[in-house]
Amino acid sequence: HLSARDGYAPLNSDFDNFYIRRLQLRINDCFRRPITGVPGRFITLLDRKSDDFNLSFKMTGTTTETLNMSSYNYLGFAQSEGECADAVEVATKKYGVSFASPRGDAGTSELHVEVENLVAKFVGKESAMIFSMGFGTNATTFPALVGKGCLIISDELNHSSIRFGARLSGAVIEMFKHNNINDLERVLRERISQGQPRTHRPWKKILVAVEGLYSMEGTMCNLPEIVALKRKYKFNLFVDEAHSIGALGIQGRGICDYFGIDPAEVDILMGTFTKSFGANGGYVAGDKALIDKLRVTNAGTLFGEAPSPPVLVQISSALRLIIGEIAPGQGQERLERLAFNSRYLRLGLKRLGFIIYGHDDSPIIPLLLYNPAKIPAFSHEMLKRKIAVVVVGYPATPLISSRARFCVSAAHTKDDLDRLLAACDQAGDILQLKFSSGIAGGR
Ligand code: PMP
Repeated sequence: HLSARDGYAPLNSDFDNFYIRRLQLRINDCFRRPITGVPGRFITLLDRKSDDFNLSFKMTGTTTETLNMSSYNYLGFAQSEGECADAVEVATKKYGVSFASPRGDAGTSELHVEVENLVAKFVGKESAMIFSMGFGTNATTFPALVGKGCLIISDELNHSSIRFGARLSGAVIEMFKHNNINDLERVLRERISQGQPRTHRPWKKILVAVEGLYSMEGTMCNLPEIVALKRKYKFNLFVDEAHSIGALGIQGRGICDYFGIDPAEVDILMGTFTKSFGANGGYVAGDKALIDKLRVTNAGTLFGEAPSPPVLVQISSALRLIIGEIAPGQGQERLERLAFNSRYLRLGLKRLGFIIYGHDDSPIIPLLLYNPAKIPAFSHEMLKRKIAVVVVGYPATPLISSRARFCVSAAHTKDDLDRLLAACDQAGDILQLKFSSGIAGGR
């Protein structure tokens, strides 16, 4: 029997204390309650027994239907009825649910080609390539783009998949302060010239990586200023649009659409289908030569399963709805509803005196709880009022900026948001979360 005295450490040894303590705190919130249906406007959660403090779930048989403020269902496409669902049903009968092969073997279907063409056109790029997993898109694309002798400059709050891919690439990684253009320029100046004349560039390639909309902060990247820096310092630019594609811009085409910037200014536009499209997987879009190179160098698509038929048809139907090729007007209505709902909820929360983070047009709305002890308490108060929210704390955020995060959807009605505001008003009084009586500033 091996013990710590023998210098033996079981694989979960540094895991237990930290994680189990956290999850026990969360026992009364919506976390760890399996979902029993579509994560749409409402979400049904299996109930937990009040004395169940185990990590694994014991079936109780009873469920609670809650207003869903937690899924990334920005345009309301995560649903089991309507044009997308009908097309998915037909496609599943025709193609089955799996191609049982990577793209490079027998896994490239007409559906893949169609979705790649639609995505490229939608984001304004020559070419696009799709992946079975959003996380895997970043994790495998960075190593395919850059390597030893290259420099990645990354926003400090970039998603874990970007950090993962960047580390895997073997490039030198430098971070800059979140959304801080001056700090980005400081890094560029220090790392590019390194005391040498401007013409000397000690890196094979330089890649700056940012996100369109940050999922924990609700902040938007300052694309116009980043593009200006790109002209000055001549780096490659990668923008992760997981949360901005479909959710920002008059036509829902993401951060370039929002700022009126030509997509040609960004070298790689990456995104996921798991948020605005109610599907699965990710994409990268860029010049044809670049995407062609990725097709033969990206290990994720060379050796991993191709995206599945129902997923592909969900994506193509959602895209066609957004651009008005199916049910003209419906896509635009969804975009407008999302924009209205985001502003309405933000303003309502500010009026109640809460501190919220993020851009006025962001459908992600973090509400600051600050004290980590208020994380389970807030979630519990919401659940009591039949509202499901995501609560986040350390290590995803700094310890003292614990927060609840609302994800607004085009599927929400004004009444839903009024119900949420009333619940927040009550919970805010109980937990002393209101920091002013007027409109508090965002960040
Ligand atoms: N990039 C960002 C910015 C994300 O927020 C996420 C997931 N939330 C991903 C990539 C990974 O995408 P997926 O969940 O589709 O795997």
